[in-house]
Amino acid sequence: MRILAFDIGGTAIKIGIINENGQILESSEMPTMAHEGGEALMSRILTVISEHKDVDRIGISTAGQVDYLEGKIIFASENLPGWTGMEIKKRIEDAFNIPTIVENDVNAAAIGEAYYGAGTNAKSFLCLAYGTGIGGAIIENGEIYRGAYGSAGEFGHIVTHVGGKDCTCGARGCYEAYASTTALVKRVKQEITLNEVNGRVIFNLVNDGNEHVKKIVDEWIFEIIMGLINLVHVFNPSLIVLGGGIMEQPYIIKYIQDNLPRFVMPNYRKVIIKAAEIGNNAGILGAAHLAMKI
Ligand SMILES: [Zn+2]
Repeated sequence: MRILAFDIGGTAIKIGIINENGQILESSEMPTMAHEGGEALMSRILTVISEHKDVDRIGISTAGQVDYLEGKIIFASENLPGWTGMEIKKRIEDAFNIPTIVENDVNAAAIGEAYYGAGTNAKSFLCLAYGTGIGGAIIENGEIYRGAYGSAGEFGHIVTHVGGKDCTCGARGCYEAYASTTALVKRVKQEITLNEVNGRVIFNLVNDGNEHVKKIVDEWIFEIIMGLINLVHVFNPSLIVLGGGIMEQPYIIKYIQDNLPRFVMPNYRKVIIKAAEIGNNAGILGAAHLAMKI
């Protein structure tokens, strides 16, 4: 079986041809050019498919809230203007008659980690992705737990600070307003004058022994831990997989491993904290895996 998989993000689209064993036979990347709008994006996807009509299935991982059964976008933020409402599955199946699935990017990445990455030996676990916001997914017996209306796992919007900072969702005090990579970058910018601030710059300063930046980073990691304490007590997971580019920093994972057990009750301390393992390929591998099963 050959599956054509896409991972659509705000800046780039990753494309892969994957076989039934999860091997990536070909892969490439193209810019999303999101500013051109949803219809232009859809037609670029259709053009790529028209060049690979020999595939058996199509799996799409995309940013935004997805109606998995209908294969359409319920809501996409301004990172993908005009993507809200797009009937991706219908458009592809009408044009090419190739069975297609569409999944939210964090869910797809979690399935990728479940079958080909950090979660291979733990079929029930939590996955969080730290970036502009914080995405989450719940994997139960190798499948995504979706909740009553398909949107379970929005861990970025659990409230960790009552009456706290404004969040992009309209509420206040949400986890992602404190623990996302964006929140860390904002904090560093407020306190230190630098030409360019991003995760890499921040961790270079920590590794060079900058105590001021290290203090900010340690406080930020405590914000990450606060959210995990809640999740550990709700789900009692064996494993939590932490993804997003910033989690490639071993300092963060080690700090969480060393400190989280102090804040949870004894029964919950066996939880294993791991960084995501297949990073950039998790979305296409997860989407391909879901497509194999239809
Ligand atoms: Zn929120």
